[in-house]
Amino acid sequence: MTVEEILKNLKERGMKITSQRIEVIKFISEVKKGHFEVKDLFAILSRKFPSLSIVTLYNILHALSELGLVYSFSDGQKTIYDFSPEPHAHFICSVCGRIEDVELKELVIGPIKGKREKVEVVVKGICEECLKKVGS
Ligand SMILES: [Zn+2]
Ligand SMILES: [Zn+2]
Repeated sequence: MTVEEILKNLKERGMKITSQRIEVIKFISEVKKGHFEVKDLFAILSRKFPSLSIVTLYNILHALSELGLVYSFSDGQKTIYDFSPEPHAHFICSVCGRIEDVELKELVIGPIKGKREKVEVVVKGICEECLKKVGS
């Protein structure tokens, strides 16, 4: 989806499109890969857009995730935003907190009575580097 299409979609959903929101959406749409907490993303963006409020950022992220352009999941404590909307799983190291994408080869989910909104696949464990440290 191009930035223009994103903006059109958001307008149809009743979002007020200010020039600041356009800039933020442009910035986010250029982030192709990576995992962010809202506060990290806010720290980067508020340097570029000093008048941006975190509430506005939350609203934008929420709207973008409804469009399927960003994906959010929980590491058990915080919400992590992911800018790679291709389906994949996450491996989270319980020692250093590192998050890695894991290829999702097959996921078979039984029937659900109701409306499915999101699937989160989180694998917890200890990453290679932390394992090495423990071993030494
Ligand atoms: Zn680790
Ligand atoms: Zn990811």
